[in-house]
Amino acid sequence: MSILDYTATTLAAKIKAGEISAIEATKAVLEQIEKTEELYNCYVTIDKDGALKQAEEIQSKIESGELVSPLAGVPVAIKDNICTEGMLTTCSSKILGNFVPTFSAEVVENLKKAGAVIIGKTNMDEFAMGSTTETSAYGVTRNPKNPEHVPGGSSGGSAAAVAANECFYALGSDTGGSIRQPAGYCGVVGMKPTYSTVSRYGLIAYGSSLDQIGPLCKDVTDCATILDIISSHDTKDSTSVGKKTDYTKALVNDVKGMKIGIPRDYFGDGLDSEVKKAVLNAAKVLESRGAILEEFDLGLVEYAIPAYYTIAAAEASSNLERFDGIKYGYRTEEFSDLHNMYKKTRSEGFGAEVKRRIMLGSFVLSSGYYDAYYLKALKVKALIKKAFDDAFSKYDVILGPVAPTTAPKLGESLSDPIKMYLGDIYTISINLAGLPAISLPCGIASNGLPIGLQLIGDCYKENNIIQTAYTYEQAGKED
Ligand code: GLN
Repeated sequence: MSILDYTATTLAAKIKAGEISAIEATKAVLEQIEKTEELYNCYVTIDKDGALKQAEEIQSKIESGELVSPLAGVPVAIKDNICTEGMLTTCSSKILGNFVPTFSAEVVENLKKAGAVIIGKTNMDEFAMGSTTETSAYGVTRNPKNPEHVPGGSSGGSAAAVAANECFYALGSDTGGSIRQPAGYCGVVGMKPTYSTVSRYGLIAYGSSLDQIGPLCKDVTDCATILDIISSHDTKDSTSVGKKTDYTKALVNDVKGMKIGIPRDYFGDGLDSEVKKAVLNAAKVLESRGAILEEFDLGLVEYAIPAYYTIAAAEASSNLERFDGIKYGYRTEEFSDLHNMYKKTRSEGFGAEVKRRIMLGSFVLSSGYYDAYYLKALKVKALIKKAFDDAFSKYDVILGPVAPTTAPKLGESLSDPIKMYLGDIYTISINLAGLPAISLPCGIASNGLPIGLQLIGDCYKENNIIQTAYTYEQAGKED
């Protein structure tokens, strides 16, 4: 067994026991990157020297007993919309092509305190807008399970880096599915925690009321362990609440009496038959372990996509106003006056999908259209939250697919943005309602690509979905 096959928590235990050093683990990852990165393009920035230096420092702190943490010495990759002091943070956009933050995001500080070795920054859809990692200004990322297919998005670089063993775990961000969907497409575990449990300080904003940072990793144990480290109350994020449940205590192999709701509306037309079969099989496995399954009608599913794309675009148009060529980032070379400089900088600096969202967002917020679009979308959001509240008065967990199909072929999605937006049907309502949800592998389709299972919990009830996911994962090892 190669070092690269270890999960993050197993690797940390071996480093702690002195069987492997943080330096060896870092070198193993860097060697793997040498071999596969040219094809997959998981990273925008790789900090080889910095990573080795960190590994040396961390290793000596582990040996002296100064550093005790369940992930000390383990190499991690960070999505390129999360600020890292002194390290390029581009959001995979030309407009931030030269942006080196002077501070680190709270999650990065938390990881550093826990002895993480930061390998580099992962590729993504530009400003996290997309579902395929094809809108990056720095080239597409390929799916390690089949390089002719996309890894999903927008955290496609993070998911692919985990799947390709180019890191042991990664951070991503999820505004409408960007952790869960690439995790599903690449056959890894990914989780979007409850809104407000992980600080957004230092996360470059897309849709601030929807954005959450979370882990992409090899198994459910890693997921709970990483969450334990990254989630914290942070006064620098005014929406931060922090930890409300003990994630690693939820790693219990038992679902007896766990009430699992299966929304009928998630299994209708549009869902690939093999995905449907695999997800329903996973439900049966949980039933065989004592969970109580019940079908129900969630409702409002068809309204989630228009509501999400209205709200997310509105917030994006406002958040992205700050990229003006004045304070930081790209500035056009030649201009006649200030207005012309803004215009040229933004025209040259942003890609097509980002421009589409800014225009859409400005439109739905403009006077005369605000009530008809933005306000209406907020009302739909409130109704969706209520539908989930009703469901969680009956169930501990809601089970469904992550995406309607397995990973599309490269180039297939960009030609039809509406079709791409429709692919977010099972993930976006979770962000609108602020809920936690985990995506984990539940099978392989006949095309050889992984299928993802999604387990959704009530706010701050990560424990229920971690316990259910862990039990399902263990059942796979027992059978
Ligand atoms: N695909 C969705 C979008 O393009 C979700 C992206 C995300 O979660 N960041 O907005």
